Amino acid sequence: QSQEFSQVRIDYHGALLALQEHGTRMVCTGKMHTDRICRFDYLCYCTEAEEFVFFHSNASVMLPNLGPRRFQPALLDLSSVEDHNTQYFNFLELPAAALKFMPKPVFVPDVTLILNRFNPDNLMHIFHDDLLPIYYTMQQYSDLDDEARLVFMEGWGEGAHFDLYRLLSSKQPLLKEQLKTFGKLMCFTKSYVGLSKMTTWYQYGFVQPQGPKANILISGNEIRQFASFLMERLNVTQEEGDDYIVVFKRTTNRLILNEAELLLSLAQEFQMRTVTVSLEEQSFDSIIQIISGATMLVSMHGAQMISSMFLPRGAAVVELFPYAINPEQYTPYKTLASLPGMDLQYVAWRNTMEENTVTYPDRHWDQGGIVHLEKEEQERILASKEVPRHLCCRNPEWLFRIYQDTTVDIASFLDILRETLKKPNLKKAKVASTVHPGRVREPKCQTSVQATNEAKLSVSWQIPWNLKYLKVKEVKYEVWIQEQGENTYMPYILPHQNYTFSENIKPFTTYLVWVRCIFNKNLLGPFADVLICKT
Ligand code: UDP
Repeated sequence: QSQEFSQVRIDYHGALLALQEHGTRMVCTGKMHTDRICRFDYLCYCTEAEEFVFFHSNASVMLPNLGPRRFQPALLDLSSVEDHNTQYFNFLELPAAALKFMPKPVFVPDVTLILNRFNPDNLMHIFHDDLLPIYYTMQQYSDLDDEARLVFMEGWGEGAHFDLYRLLSSKQPLLKEQLKTFGKLMCFTKSYVGLSKMTTWYQYGFVQPQGPKANILISGNEIRQFASFLMERLNVTQEEGDDYIVVFKRTTNRLILNEAELLLSLAQEFQMRTVTVSLEEQSFDSIIQIISGATMLVSMHGAQMISSMFLPRGAAVVELFPYAINPEQYTPYKTLASLPGMDLQYVAWRNTMEENTVTYPDRHWDQGGIVHLEKEEQERILASKEVPRHLCCRNPEWLFRIYQDTTVDIASFLDILRETLKKPNLKKAKVASTVHPGRVREPKCQTSVQATNEAKLSVSWQIPWNLKYLKVKEVKYEVWIQEQGENTYMPYILPHQNYTFSENIKPFTTYLVWVRCIFNKNLLGPFADVLICKT
C-alpha cells in the first residue's frame, strides 16, 4: 500500500472482504441536493475515470434512494456555494462482483471529509466558502475530529493559502490530483461528502445580484469561536497595549494612491499610531496578529477584508470603494461586521470625485480592461457614474470600476468617520448577552363591562422561568390584543406583569391576547398560548 496511509495498519484482506460482501453504504441528511451531506462506508473513487463508485451488494444501503432523481440535477453540492452547476457530486454504480475484474483497491483508513473548495486563490472565498464550512461540518460529525482527512475534489492546486487548510486537521489534506498516485481504485473506509452551508452569509450573484443570503444562520459568536481556533493553531495571541489603526493595502491593483496622506490624517484625527499591512509584505499569521489588537481596520474593498473577523470586539471596519461603485451593492464585509455578536462598527466610504480615480482600460479583461469591447460600449461605461446592478462574474463595467486606483479625498473620508463612528465604543465593547426570555407563565385575563359602550380587560402573567437566574438590565413585556375576526391587532409595551386596558375595549366582544417578554429591547421571547377573553 501507499506510504501515506501506512502508519495506520489496516487489515487489507478484511477490508476487501467487507467491501465485496457489504458493498457501499450511504445514509444522508437533507431533503434537497442543496442541503445534503452524505456519510458513506466504502465509497470508492476511480482515478482513471475520475468518478466516485458505489458498489451494490445484498447489504448495501442508499438513503435517500432517489432513483434517477439523483441526477436532477445532482445528489448534493460538493462546495458550500448553493446549487452551482460546476460543484455537483454524484457517483457511478457497479455490482460488488465487478471488483473481481478491477484493479486492487487502495483503502483510505482515515475518516474522510470529501468536498470542493470554491476559489482557493481568494482569501474571502477561502474563509467564507471553505474554512468556516469545513470547520463547522467537522463539529457536526464527531468522528470528523483532528485525525480526519480532508480531500479536495475541485481539481485545483494547493493555492496561495494552503497552510490555512492544514490547520483544520492533523493530517495533510489531499488534492484530487494526488489521488492518482495512490492507485487506480481508492476506497474510503468511512467518509462524509459535502459541506454544511449553515455558516455562509453571502451569495455571489450567480442567479440574482450579489448580496447577503436571505436566511443567515450564523452569528458573530460562531465566527469568533472559529477565529479563536485558528489563532490558537497559529500560536497567535491577541496583542495588548496601545490603540492603533491598521491600513490593509493592496499592492498590485485597486490601490490607494495617497496612502501616506491617509495614514497621517488617521493618526491626527484619532491620535493613534497607524500601521500598514499587505499580503505581499507580511505573512498572513503576522497580519492576523496585528489585526487582532487593532482599534480600526481601513481597506479598499477586496478579499483581504475577510481578516476583519480577527478584529477585537468594538473595533471599526472602514471599507473604501472606488469611483462609480455603490457600496450598498457589495456587502460581504458589511454583512460580516453586522452579524449579531460580531460587535464591529462598519463604515463605507466611496470615491465620488472622478478626478480622483485612475482607470485601466488597456488591461486584460479579468483585471478590468475594456478595450476589447465595442467602441460604443466603452464610451457608455466611461460616461456612467454608477455600475448598474449585475450578475457575477464577468461584467466588464464592474471589473473596470472595481480595479480602479483611488486618491482618497481626506475631507469627505474624515467626515464620514466622524459622523458614523462612536468613539467611546472603540475597542471597549462588552460581550452582550444573547439569552432570550422564556415564555411568560400563567397568563390570565379578567373582564368587566362598565356600561353599554364601556368595558375593561385586565391581563396578568408571571415572569419567564429563566429570569430568576439572570441579571437583565431591562425587562419589558409586549401584549398584542386582537378583536376576534379582525386582521389587525394593537401592540403594547408594558413594564409590569399586569395591565388593565379600557381604551378601545368594547363590551360583549371576544379578544385574543398574546403576551411575551423582551430583554434589553431586542431579545424577544416566545408568545405564551393565546388568551381568549370575552367582555
Ligand atoms: N490581492 C492582494 N493584493 C493585491 C491584489 C489582490 O493581496 O494587490 C489578493 C486579494 O486579497 C485576494 C486575491 O489576491 O485574496 C485575489 O484578488 P482579486 O482582486 O481577484 O479579488 P477581490 O479582492 O476583489 O475579492
